[in-house]
Amino acid sequence: MVDDAVNLDDAAKSSQIADSPLDRFIAVSVATPPVKRRRDQVPKGANLCDYCSAKCCQYFALPMEQPVNRKDYDFIRWYLLHDRASCFVDDDNWYLLVHTTCKHLQSDNRCGIYETRPQICREYTTDECEFDDDWCYEMYFETPEQIDEYADALLGPQFVDPKASKRNSLRSRRPTALPMA
Ligand code: SF4
Ligand code: SF4
Repeated sequence: MVDDAVNLDDAAKSSQIADSPLDRFIAVSVATPPVKRRRDQVPKGANLCDYCSAKCCQYFALPMEQPVNRKDYDFIRWYLLHDRASCFVDDDNWYLLVHTTCKHLQSDNRCGIYETRPQICREYTTDECEFDDDWCYEMYFETPEQIDEYADALLGPQFVDPKASKRNSLRSRRPTALPMA
């Protein structure tokens, strides 16, 4: 009887654990891993946009001059100090990428101002859109530290951390200035 009680208790505990939100999340995630649909898997003649989460309405990218000096890189560092800004390089072209959703994208992923949408949206086609894009670029910078490290590697360090130990630095520290007599 005692054993049965213990077993029932264990069963109750394990069913509680199995029913916890985390457990359900893991169970669902494992059972149904997200599948990225490729464009050749969309039924023939169907509108690709009907199978998309409106990826093209959730960012904008602006071409940038290729940075050549520290000032240019510092500008990019400033961009990257902002939330949801990143920067990528494709075919040697530099772009500022801002991950932000158009205010007129509706919850059903359709355009709320379809009749008066901007020209750029009218001209955009599904021919080479990002429907099944792998989002891989020549280079991708998400943080100010990343662009700093890149610039440091090209141009030498911008800031010398006086606390950095010589052992951790590839370059020797600048010697302390001699006191003026
Ligand atoms: S144009 Fe491409 S990325 Fe934009 S909604 Fe249609 S399928 Fe998606
Ligand atoms: S105006 Fe319409 S089509 Fe253009 S980005 Fe916004 S939601 Fe998308």
